Formats: sequence, C-alpha cells, structure tokens
Amino acid sequence: ETGDTLLQPREHSSLVPPLKQGLLFVLSAPSGTGKDTVIKALKDQGMGFHVVASVTTRAPRVGESEGNPYYFVSNETFERMVENDELLEYANVHGNWYGQPIQPIKENLRNGRDVLLKIDVQGAATVRRKVPGAIFIFLVPGSLEELVYRLTNRQTETEEQVQRRLTDARKELAQQIHYDYIVENRQGHLDKAVERVRSIIIAEHCRTNPHYVEL
Ligand code: 5GP
Repeated sequence: ETGDTLLQPREHSSLVPPLKQGLLFVLSAPSGTGKDTVIKALKDQGMGFHVVASVTTRAPRVGESEGNPYYFVSNETFERMVENDELLEYANVHGNWYGQPIQPIKENLRNGRDVLLKIDVQGAATVRRKVPGAIFIFLVPGSLEELVYRLTNRQTETEEQVQRRLTDARKELAQQIHYDYIVENRQGHLDKAVERVRSIIIAEHCRTNPHYVEL
C-alpha cells in the first residue's frame, strides 16, 4: 500500500463516514395547543426536518388546500390506502380519519433528513409499537382554560366540535406519560416551547448511538 491510497478513501474505509439517516420524531398535542405554531417557528429558525402531509377524510377548512396541510381524500380512497399498506399509521380523530403515508417518510429518512410526524395519541401508540426507535414529544397547554380560549377564538370549529375536542383533550393529556419528552406551551411563552423542542432535536443528534429507525 502506498501512502496515496490512504488519502483516497475507498468504500467501507473508516475515513468515509456512513451516510447518516434522518431521525424520526413524533409530535402530539391536544387540538389547540399550538403544534402548528411551534413547528412553523422551528422551520423559520432553519430546522430542516420534513413534516409529512397526512391524508384525511375531513373537509378542508378555509385557507387549506390540497397538500396544505393535508391531502383531502374520500372514505373510499382512504380505505384503499389502508388495505394497500400505504399508511404507517392511521386513526379516527374527532370523527375524521387521518393517516401518514409511509413512502415520503422512508424517502426523507433515507436521504438523511429528519421527519416529524404530527399525529394524535392513537397514531403515536401505533408508531411506538411499529417503530420503537422513534422519538416521542408531547406538547401540553399551560392549562385546560387556555385550550378553551384558543379553540373558541380561532373560530374554525362549531360549538359542538369545540366541545368534542375538549373532551378528547382530557383523554389525550392522560397519554403524555408514554412520551419521551413533555414540553409545555404556555400562553405567551411560545419562545420557550420552541427552544425546548429545538434542544430535544439537537440532543437526539448528539447521542453516542442516534436512534436510526427501520421502516
Ligand atoms: P385537525 O383536524 O385540527 O387538523 O387535526 C386534528 C388532529 O388530528 C390533531 O390532533 C392531529 O395531530 C391529528 N392528526 C393529523 N394528521 C394525523 C395523522 O396522519 N395521523 C394521526 N393519527 N393523527 C393525525
């Protein structure tokens, strides 16, 4: 071996680090806790994770469009996707079906990009069973009163829908013990919540053995 070969690392050489996979994060929170606001703030800070657009049978709200934030599909299409194993997980949340297409998750992780799944507690339980290496973060509101205030104020749901979301919120909050991290998003303290989620993501990358998952 000449000295030159040392300078030209071949495949499998210890000088060439293996291509890093992305990490899989799961973020859950009761409706109205501010998940989307936290995600947007992290993105604005330049965090490069990919948020997969779910497919849902819920009707689009004003301002929503295809792929933003969901792909809006019929019940038939949703059922077909379930049958064809195209979803990593799916669940009925507040009376509508939501699911995460598996393909974009796989692709992004393989390309070294982190993926963040914005899913409810039932979906998270499925992912925990199927992909135990994922990293689970639960965002909690400062209080139930804050939730009532935000859900009522955004005026995107009917009174009945708000009541249903509040009943569901109580059940969802009870599931926080199953998560790896709990972050409070108190009214008026968004920066603190954002800083904490950001720190968690960075810390997970600094592990001696980062949680690379297999899908
Ligand atoms: P919204 O209708 O307010 O956009 O979302 C309602 C709930 O559905 C949120 O708690 C959100 O986390 C959950 N959700 C959205 N997409 C998915 C998904 O793909 N899978 C699961 N399990 N829950 C989802």
